[in-house]
Amino acid sequence: MKNEIIIFGIILVILGYVLLYSGYQKLQPTKADKTLGYFKDFAEGLSGEKIKGFPKKDNTESIILILLGCISFIAGLMMILKSRNSTKSISSDFHINNNNSNLYCSNCGAKVERNVKFCPECGNEIG
Ligand SMILES: [Zn+2]
Repeated sequence: MKNEIIIFGIILVILGYVLLYSGYQKLQPTKADKTLGYFKDFAEGLSGEKIKGFPKKDNTESIILILLGCISFIAGLMMILKSRNSTKSISSDFHINNNNSNLYCSNCGAKVERNVKFCPECGNEIG
C-alpha cells in the first residue's frame, strides 16, 4: 500500500514535470513568432508608426499547463514525503522494540542483555 502511494506520487511528479515543461515550451517564442516580430519591427521602421492588430500569442493554454504541472508536482512530492515519513516512524518504532528485546548468544544461544559485551554463560563476545 505504501509503495503504491510512492509510485503514484512519483507518477504525479513526472506528470507535473512534463506538464510544466510543455507549458514552458509553449511560452517560448517559435521561429514563426520571431520572424513575425522582425517583420513587425521592419514595417514599423518603414512607416514610423506603431502597428496595432498584429496577432498576439495566446498564453492561456501554457499558463494552465504550468499551473496543472505545479499542482501535480507538489501533490506528488507531498505524497512521497508523507509515505517516507510514515515509513520512517515505523522503522524507528521497530528500532525501539529492537532495543528492548534481548540478544541471544551466537555461540551457546543463551539470552544476553543488550548492554553486555560477553555472554555470561560461555564468555563469547556479543555483537
Ligand atoms: Zn554464550
